[in-house]
Amino acid sequence: MFLVRTTARIRSSILLRQFVLIYLPAAAILSIAIVTSLHLDAQDRIDRAKVREAARIEIAKNLVTHDFSSVASDLQLLAATPALHHYLDGDNRAGRADDLANLFLEMARAKGCYDQVRYLDATGREIIRINFNAGSPSIVPRAQLQDKSERYFFRDSYKLERNEIFVSPMDLNVEHDQLEIPYKPMIRFGTPVFDSAGRKRGIILLNYFGEKLLGHFREAMRGSDASSGMLLNRDGYWLNSARSEDEWGFMLGKPERRFGQDHAAEWSAISAGESGALQTEKGLYVYATVYPLLAGQRSSTGSPLPRSSSQQELTASEYKWKIVSFTSDEELAGSSANNRTARSILFGVIYLLLAFGSLAIAYFRLSRMLAQSRLKEDEARLREITTTMSDGLLVTDHNGQITFANPEAGLLLGYNDHELLGRDMHGLLHVREDGSSCNRADCKLLQVVKTGTTYRGMEEFFRCKNGQALPISVSVSAIIKEQKAAGIVVAFHDITERKKFELELERQAQIDALTGLNNRRHFYELAEQEIVRTRRYGKPLSILMVDVDHFKSINDTYGHHSGDTVLQRLSDVCRQTMREIDIIGRIGGEEFCILLPEANGAQAREAAERLREAVAATEVQLEPEVSISFSVSIGVAALVAEDDGVAAMLRRADAALYAAKYSGRNRVCVQE
Ligand code: GH3
Ligand code: MG
Ligand code: MG
Repeated sequence: MFLVRTTARIRSSILLRQFVLIYLPAAAILSIAIVTSLHLDAQDRIDRAKVREAARIEIAKNLVTHDFSSVASDLQLLAATPALHHYLDGDNRAGRADDLANLFLEMARAKGCYDQVRYLDATGREIIRINFNAGSPSIVPRAQLQDKSERYFFRDSYKLERNEIFVSPMDLNVEHDQLEIPYKPMIRFGTPVFDSAGRKRGIILLNYFGEKLLGHFREAMRGSDASSGMLLNRDGYWLNSARSEDEWGFMLGKPERRFGQDHAAEWSAISAGESGALQTEKGLYVYATVYPLLAGQRSSTGSPLPRSSSQQELTASEYKWKIVSFTSDEELAGSSANNRTARSILFGVIYLLLAFGSLAIAYFRLSRMLAQSRLKEDEARLREITTTMSDGLLVTDHNGQITFANPEAGLLLGYNDHELLGRDMHGLLHVREDGSSCNRADCKLLQVVKTGTTYRGMEEFFRCKNGQALPISVSVSAIIKEQKAAGIVVAFHDITERKKFELELERQAQIDALTGLNNRRHFYELAEQEIVRTRRYGKPLSILMVDVDHFKSINDTYGHHSGDTVLQRLSDVCRQTMREIDIIGRIGGEEFCILLPEANGAQAREAAERLREAVAATEVQLEPEVSISFSVSIGVAALVAEDDGVAAMLRRADAALYAAKYSGRNRVCVQE
């Protein structure tokens, strides 16, 4: 009810509230679904990136260790070569030195990965040295050989036992106490050599091109982003980085160019762990530790200074590098900016469609609410009408089964509403005036279903629960659905009072008000009927005409009112004296007629005489101390064959009355 009366503004606010109620939960569910799917997708990408990068790192690790073991086997081969032993044992020293130098030269040429192949004697002087010379290896002339006794790699190699190998850290080559430009990454592999007598006679030293190893490393890590493949030494200095200015910080006196400097938290995890994956807000770090040295191989921290000892010895397990792969968040997201824009537009469209859908549902709901509200209002109004209306109201289906009864209908018929529902209206209620059932086929009320024409009955009868026939006026209309009568609406009201009133009017029209006897007109009617009946059965019939004697003088003496009293007493006496079946009427001022069915003239005369005597014996108390008596004269006439009606009888009775008056009054005369 409220809704129907609402203004457009309130409807809009209801629509908005409905929209919010639908849209917000739907959008929340959609958002959760999108976020979950994006999260799962991202997690999946991360997992795949972890596996992919770990595989690359494993390959790089294998390549690095393979490079190291291949150099170590070259070194051991050289250390065990007979040419070296002959040379060390001192036979034909100059020739042997040439043989050895040529062997070194062949080795350098064949392998192509050594910048220098050298033999240094026990004092640290270079005795044989092959320089790679950018792919054209050559034996360095004796005059150009240098003293390397101060360099850490000589010292650290020379102090080893037989078959032990020293591996330097990978650093940049130093020539004549200067860093060689362009930078030449280098790893020195050294092992002591012994003569036949078992005396240590110096070392063999291979300068391995670090660039070869780094090339293998980069090859293995290729496919990752340029910045992803990082090789770090044990202190976190870059040996390989996408940004060349980051590399070799420990050689260049730049301690700040360390991984740990820029990535403190990451480095503390990476340096402490063997391998693993680390996800930070910057991206995904996958790392592993590589130990290039084999068992029995030794190393030291080396020294960045040309003429200084190693700061610390390192065992194989302490010589370690870290391989770190970095994948940025953008790469992990795996989508280009265009893709992200397209995805954002798609999500926007989905949310927009959701909003339109929600708006449509909200509008539909509002319409339904309005319709329901209107329906409720109509129902309430109808209930109000049917409850308060003074007519009884019944609704039936097309078979006459009652489907609705208002309270007034129940009240009039003595049923409660529910007792009427489902009952057959005609069978239960519709009767004739005497209470007997009506023929269903003739029921004018039910015929409305067939005719569709409204029926108005001024006087029908419904049977009450107590069995009494209730007079009603009724109006019956058809309920038309889809051009067919689906039932009828019966509106009726009780006409008992009206009928009583009509009867009273009718009675009043027939009865004399002063005496309560039949009036002249009605008496004539009854008399005519009686004549007909009498003639049908061949019975006798007589009539008395009674007139008060000297009535005028009663009026004159005691007043008109007293005259009325006298007339009333006379009518009482008539009623008391005459038989039940006799018909009495007042046909004039103080003139009365009495019809005596089944009485012949003689019998009528007797009855008249009885009446005359009874009247004469009657005293009328007019006032407490005044009472009078009076008399009547009576003319009697019997029905004869020639009489064509009551008028003829009355004429003869009147003549007899006249005779009675004339002969002295208070007497009875019979018209023969
Ligand atoms: P008679 O013996 O010849 O019949 O004499 P009467 O006086 O009765 O005769 P009359 O017919 O002249 O008088 C009848 C009177 O009855 C005249 C009239 O005033 C009176 N009358 C007629 N109707 C009524 C009535 O309803 N009430 C009263 N009080 N008087 C009535
Ligand atoms: Mg008279
Ligand atoms: Mg008279």
